[in-house]
Amino acid sequence: MGTLTVITGPSGVGKGTLVQRLLARHPSIWVSVSATTRAPREGEREGESYFFHSRERFDALVQEGGLLEWAEFAGNCYGTPRDPVEQQLQAGRPVLLEIELEGARQVRRSFSKARQIFLSPPSFEELERRIRGRGTDSEEAIQRRLLRAREELSAQGEFDAVVVNDDLDQALLKLEGLMGLG
Ligand code: 5GP
Repeated sequence: MGTLTVITGPSGVGKGTLVQRLLARHPSIWVSVSATTRAPREGEREGESYFFHSRERFDALVQEGGLLEWAEFAGNCYGTPRDPVEQQLQAGRPVLLEIELEGARQVRRSFSKARQIFLSPPSFEELERRIRGRGTDSEEAIQRRLLRAREELSAQGEFDAVVVNDDLDQALLKLEGLMGLG
């Protein structure tokens, strides 16, 4: 069986960039592609960034038990398709989920052996600057993400380890160490 690692951290903390860097160095890692009801952002591609679904299709997936975990986040639903994760773990590959707090809690209940890592910003001000700097979300969406970020930051003690994403190279090294990658 492969190992399962969950990375959680507030929106804008840089999970996506860190995961891309990790993958470039360790191509054997398999990163789950989530289902979401959120609209695609510019440059996002179906089946690569996400599987973009209608709310009806997403609800049907939930009903069928097709999602390993799912949660609502800032007005949209996000979830991890179950079958591919189980197949990759069976095949012995290291599997990585990049998901928000509620999803991480669900995985903790069903996969007690999963390693849970929280990625934290150097400060809340820096996080706000990064979220605004992305320039893709409405002010309302930004406010919802900031509120949720405060909730997520207050839960970091639940995780096996916290990595502060101040310097990307340092964060990458720490993550590799936690995942047992040389
Ligand atoms: P974004 O809209 O910025 O792509 O993602 C918003 C939040 O949803 C991020 O914190 C991201 O980690 C989380 N997320 C992405 N996919 C999933 C998923 O499959 N399940 C859960 N629970 N959260 C997810």
